[in-house]
Amino acid sequence: FELERLGIHDSVDAVFPPSELATHLADLPVAVDVIGDDEIAACDAVVTLEYREAFLELDWIHSIQAGVDRFPFDDLEAEGVVLTNSTGIHDRTVGETVAGYLLAFSRRLHDHVANQQERRWERPEWDEAFTLPGNTACVVGTGTLGRGVAETLGALGVRVIGVRRSGDPVSGFEEIYANDDLLEAVADAEFVIATVPLTDETHHLFDADAFDAMREDAYFVNVARGPVVDEPALIDALESDSIEGAALDVFEAEPLPEASPLWELDEVIVTPHCAAYTRDYFRDVGEIVRENVGRLESGDEAFHNRVV
Ligand code: NDP
Repeated sequence: FELERLGIHDSVDAVFPPSELATHLADLPVAVDVIGDDEIAACDAVVTLEYREAFLELDWIHSIQAGVDRFPFDDLEAEGVVLTNSTGIHDRTVGETVAGYLLAFSRRLHDHVANQQERRWERPEWDEAFTLPGNTACVVGTGTLGRGVAETLGALGVRVIGVRRSGDPVSGFEEIYANDDLLEAVADAEFVIATVPLTDETHHLFDADAFDAMREDAYFVNVARGPVVDEPALIDALESDSIEGAALDVFEAEPLPEASPLWELDEVIVTPHCAAYTRDYFRDVGEIVRENVGRLESGDEAFHNRVV
């Protein structure tokens, strides 16, 4: 198809100012404009966070997130709309966020921040703080996120094992299990970290059985998508001390409802779906868009990061 006008949909504003990306891409050989819902029809393609039905009239949609579970794959395919995503750019950001959660738990930083809010000078119990080397993290999903987490935690001395569909080895992981062996894979890990895409197969992958299989001193981390976890089962596991704690960036309902017990449970860190945030986000997304516009211009329709 002929690409003449690329819209930067204003929904990306939740992650970075759309004008930053438009300026970054101003040298492309196509018109690049920030657009609202009323200007979708005047474009051939969009870069977006959210989905709109009007996108079905376009040739190409680029998602600024790696997760594309909210896009209607069947409708896009039926209408011949290409969907590309932003996998490949979140290794370091999410890796450092996960390292931050682990360091908060091991060095008790979340307690100190909470105490500071109350002007309370209170040291941890003698046996609360620990160091990371010698601990094992089981990373479920060994793609961009999983590898970034493995690299960052590996540098902190954590032993990293992984879970993926095939069970084939991946560099940076000491051992790899297949999805079918999840319960065995999580059993000996002090940290269990979800980095899988949300699909029919991974929906509620972390259920009561998975939390039962974890150690009582295990921390669970979810930087993937809320529905890969059966959230009531996680809350039960936390409330009954069958696991030690959790760091959660994503939830079954977002924003996390005010009434959720997760806000106030001990040893739970809640972050507002921002594990991948960085001031360079628009540049990282821009390079994927630039690559694909270049391929289109050269007549190569093999899109980078194509999902549909
Ligand atoms: P990738 O496609 O690079 O990696 C996906 C990994 O999950 C692969 O190792 C893959 O396995 C594994 N996997 C296991 N089960 C399945 C399954 N049933 N279907 C598909 N893959 C499976 O994705 P990313 O690492 O870039 O992103 C992963 C997810 O993380 C995104 O889909 C998104 O939902 C979430 N995310 C969250 C962010 C946040 O802000 N919190 C930021 C970025 C992403 P195999 O090796 O067998 O193919």
